[in-house]
Amino acid sequence: MILDSFLLTGRVAIVTAAGRGIGAGIAKAFAEVGADLVIGARTQEQLDQVAAYVAQSGRRAAAVAGDLSSRAGMAKLVERAMDEFGRIDIVVNNAGGSMPGPFLATEEDSFDEALRWNVTTAFNLTQLAVPHMLARASGSVINIASAIGRFGDRGFCAYGTAKAALIHLTKNLAADLAPKIRVNCIAPGATETSALNAVLGNEAIEQEMINRTPLRRIGTVEDIAAGAVYFASDASSYVTGRVLPIDGGINRANLEMPIPDL
Ligand code: NAD
Repeated sequence: MILDSFLLTGRVAIVTAAGRGIGAGIAKAFAEVGADLVIGARTQEQLDQVAAYVAQSGRRAAAVAGDLSSRAGMAKLVERAMDEFGRIDIVVNNAGGSMPGPFLATEEDSFDEALRWNVTTAFNLTQLAVPHMLARASGSVINIASAIGRFGDRGFCAYGTAKAALIHLTKNLAADLAPKIRVNCIAPGATETSALNAVLGNEAIEQEMINRTPLRRIGTVEDIAAGAVYFASDASSYVTGRVLPIDGGINRANLEMPIPDL
């Protein structure tokens, strides 16, 4: 049955920034298709809610509350996975996000920070997890980039550049880790999460975003999770180094920044 190739029965996945939003959606979907989880984020209560859903699905979740911006924070996820489950099959580098802003007002620190939070975090966790994945001679790494990493637009010099770097890191790591470990990337468009609270709370802005999206809606975390299940599972066993846009069909940002010409 083709559906069997989408199952993750008995596999162990680490998902970063999994307390809410896209990370939580991916963790829940993985549990539904049979994976055990190590979930990391800052807020224990949010992680507990995700862990409860995983338990209801008949799987186990180890919740690790803490800061994931440092390599030490990522090391705790890997240690917990090995202590609790003794294996790592799947890594989802979902930690990331940065505020857009005008180029001349973007300070060096916030540019550096965007690269660190969106790219270095993925480098760190992947490098820490890969030796354990190699022990099983297989595995899947999934990076969560952004549509704005695929094309340029005003206001995204830090975030867009960082996500473009994450897309390129995906391609380089796919070469470094083939043939044992596959590395792929999802580039979501606007997705209903707390990260978009500021714009989705405004009816006029939201409608404009919908109008500029060929599929005429905002994405859901389940839209993104479906792609993650595909990349995590044997359904994509002949796919590596690829970027899957899940974005309603946009070819430019559907949110125009109110930034005037210089
Ligand atoms: P979100 O704000 O809904 O969730 C963020 C999660 O990150 C929370 O669980 C929070 O606890 C955790 N987090 C934040 N800072 C942390 C830190 N220092 N240490 C540990 N955990 C931390 O975000 P989201 O919208 O689900 O975004 C997830 C990923 O998807 C990001 O990489 C983002 O760039 C990307 N993305 C989102 C959208 C969108 O429209 N929502 C679009 C494209 C890409």
